[in-house]
Amino acid sequence: MVEEKLKGQLDWFIRLRWIAVLGVFAVLLLSRYIFEIRLPYGALYAGGAILLLYNIAFFFYNQKLRLQFITENWWKKANCFANTQISADLIMLVCFIHFAGGIENPFIFYFIFHMVIASILLSNTAAWLQTTLAVVLFGMVITGEHFQIIIPHYHLEGFIQEEYIFNRAYVFSTFAVFATTLYITVYMATRIVNRLRAREKEVTVANTRLEEQDRLKSQYVQRVSHDIQSSLATIQNCLKIILDGYTDAVSEKALEMISRAEKKTTHLLCFVKDLLNLSRIKATKDLEKSMISLKETVKRVVEQLSSEAQAKNISLQMELPDNLCVVNANSDNVEELLMNLLKNGIKYTAWKGMVSVHLKKVDGKEGCFHFKVRDTGIGIPAEELPKIFEEFYRSKDAENFVREGTGLGLSIVKEILKAHRAEIWVESCVGKGSSFFLHYPIGTTAIPVH
Ligand code: ADP
Repeated sequence: MVEEKLKGQLDWFIRLRWIAVLGVFAVLLLSRYIFEIRLPYGALYAGGAILLLYNIAFFFYNQKLRLQFITENWWKKANCFANTQISADLIMLVCFIHFAGGIENPFIFYFIFHMVIASILLSNTAAWLQTTLAVVLFGMVITGEHFQIIIPHYHLEGFIQEEYIFNRAYVFSTFAVFATTLYITVYMATRIVNRLRAREKEVTVANTRLEEQDRLKSQYVQRVSHDIQSSLATIQNCLKIILDGYTDAVSEKALEMISRAEKKTTHLLCFVKDLLNLSRIKATKDLEKSMISLKETVKRVVEQLSSEAQAKNISLQMELPDNLCVVNANSDNVEELLMNLLKNGIKYTAWKGMVSVHLKKVDGKEGCFHFKVRDTGIGIPAEELPKIFEEFYRSKDAENFVREGTGLGLSIVKEILKAHRAEIWVESCVGKGSSFFLHYPIGTTAIPVH
């Protein structure tokens, strides 16, 4: 998704600038104390400080922008932000070069990095405009220095001789090479980036097609599972009628066999039900959403599971905020998601343990919430954590602890989260328990739920 990509690139660009700030101070200290070059260090340190300060401002603005991710104006604002950053950096680089020798300074090659970054981050037109800005600014500086108009020239001792600065042929041929190098760099970089963008588009189209095929497959599985489920339910009913003694007397041996068959049918029914749920969620293209209260949903699910928890003497706790925590979501899906997480908590916790659910609303952000489902159960080994959301995956420890299980509960959770643009992560300690953290929607600042 192009928006996700730009968001990541903006983060990367700001991170890169922290390194640039360190680089600037390192180079200044080296040239002053090791190479003992005479330069207007006051102005250069001030430049380093300005770079640091505006990166702090960009950092905070970027955090603010992240919260607005995928809102109506986000794309426009993010593009404008990327352009502002590159322009600010170009102005800064021109200033540094001016105070440190102008055309004599070998750091003029660093403009090439900026042109490459502009080609990656911006549209082609914007990249060309940024190049023109660099050429114009640098042209103005060296013209000013050469003709001694308004701006002085700061000679960089030990590099090239100062008289070259006043040699018109040298200055303007260097400038011509500089300008053409920048334009050629942008031409080549934008061509490569355009090809990559086209390739990415093709991959996205192929992915959409694959998703469509996956949905068709899920519809097929859904139909088959539905038929199997109704037949299994009928078989189970018939077996129960015999077990409950509503038919003619059956021998002890036959009763035992029927009881075993009934248990297997129950297990199969659970499996088919999970498969049906998973394929139903996967096959749904446009999820029906409405405003629902998360707080009420949590209460409902906890109530439904209370007898299951009591049967194992497990304390089932909830910590809910005062407000209702209203979100735009699919009610059945959210209930199912919570049910699966809490059921797992109860299933994988020994007698007299504890399972809890904490819900917290993100202050000042409508429709954003965090919640945590914690248990004091068997825990999940670190190496198993990446696999538990895979379809049909069950860990050895889990299988030894409870035989019943389909390995589909967390796959259902994953699909529901995907449809709601929410994310989940797990922390666990073997023998002590697990915590599942949920964060809705993606991009809201994570706040710890204790
Ligand atoms: P199932 O519980 O039917 O095996 P799930 O998809 O719900 O399938 O879970 C997949 C695996 O993740 C489980 O088999 C278990 O190994 C691990 N797991 C999930 N929840 C917990 C939990 N609360 N505590 C320990 N292990 C868990």
